[in-house]
Amino acid sequence: MSFDSLGLPEELLRAVKEQGYTKPSPIQEQAIPVILSGKDVMAAAQTGTGKTAGFTLPLLANLMKGERAKANQVRVLILTPTRELAAQIHESVCNYGQNLPLRSAVVFGGVKINPQMQLLRRGVDVLVATPGRLLDLYQQNAVRFKQLEVLVLDEADRMLDMGFIHDIKRIIKFLPEKRQNLLFSATFSNDIRKLAKGLVNDPVEISVSPRNTTAESVTQFIYEVDKTKKSPLLSTLIKENKWKQVLVFSKTKHGANRLVKQLEGRGILSAAIHGNKSQAARTRALASFKEGKITVLVATDIAARGIDIDQLEQVVNFDLPHVSEDYVHRIGRTGRAGNKGEAISLVCEDEFKLLKDIEKLIKKIIPRKVQPGFEPGTPLPPSVLDSREAKPKKPKKPRVEHKDGQRTGANNGARQSRVRSNFVGK
Ligand code: AMP
Repeated sequence: MSFDSLGLPEELLRAVKEQGYTKPSPIQEQAIPVILSGKDVMAAAQTGTGKTAGFTLPLLANLMKGERAKANQVRVLILTPTRELAAQIHESVCNYGQNLPLRSAVVFGGVKINPQMQLLRRGVDVLVATPGRLLDLYQQNAVRFKQLEVLVLDEADRMLDMGFIHDIKRIIKFLPEKRQNLLFSATFSNDIRKLAKGLVNDPVEISVSPRNTTAESVTQFIYEVDKTKKSPLLSTLIKENKWKQVLVFSKTKHGANRLVKQLEGRGILSAAIHGNKSQAARTRALASFKEGKITVLVATDIAARGIDIDQLEQVVNFDLPHVSEDYVHRIGRTGRAGNKGEAISLVCEDEFKLLKDIEKLIKKIIPRKVQPGFEPGTPLPPSVLDSREAKPKKPKKPRVEHKDGQRTGANNGARQSRVRSNFVGK
């Protein structure tokens, strides 16, 4: 199938061509016609499947028809859990909408609120936002939803994990009842289905296989190693294999900082990206990594969520994640768009239980290696695949303060400001 047969207008087809996409991804094939028709959608799709274009393209096409946004009004609201994801979605909106006379903006916490208020004054056709900051803006009368046509919840599972459920419910109350709803989530847990019940009307359900659990393009294996040897082992692997660009996941912010210091001490250029870093520092680190100025980017799960780096070949789990689904998200950073990728986990004795949970989730045993000179004191027990059904997860309590520092109180956003305001098109 080609993009031409999906019913998109010529302005958008031109923009898609300019991105170099030759054919729609499975989620795009399924979602674009349905969203164009105005129906509600519930889609199981992760980052890496092309879902952003899957909803952005038809939404922009529909926006071309209606009346432009008036002062402080928003026509399409896209809610996302993290600033990085918000910024990336907005970038996609700008790229795909480059030939259209529509206006878009992105707002998130951790930066000054005033410039965002000014930005919204003229009204925007598309607003990408994190929930906490959107509520602050709403309370200050900076944003209105009379003209709202569509609500998109992206990475809904992650939003619930991060404790945004109450914020989301409050936001929904402000919106006109008659609207199109699109819900995207990597997984469809009971909690998500509960949220969906009060949100989507007679939705078309779309599911594309989570390509990173099945993708043959990602080679996965683990190195058995003692905890204290992980950092020297990582340096050895980077040097021996001459890795040029490695995304390393660390469980904690502190651990990420420590690892960067150790790697730099061994002459490996590195930076960390997590919630205690300012937005400017995070943006800078990501840019240096993308441009190849540093070899290693050490990230916590939340900070890395949605990071999109073309042709990233190497992902390393310095620690195994406590939430098994995060493993799938982590390795999904590599092996995109048919490129090959490798995901390596450094696993010590205490992490065996986490490894078992991950293997159960992905329904396969990850092959193991031991690097000569790094033999573990106590080898890991052998893995046996547990095929019993997982118990439903207990709902998590909402957190007041999010790990990535997105919401630090009723009036977040006193820190350094960098707001993207973009005109889509001329
Ligand atoms: P997403 O799942 O939206 O985060 O997109 C993942 C990556 O796939 C992004 O780098 C997109 O630019 C890219 N992409 C989206 N659609 C296509 C397509 N039809 N062909 C090739 N690459 C695509």
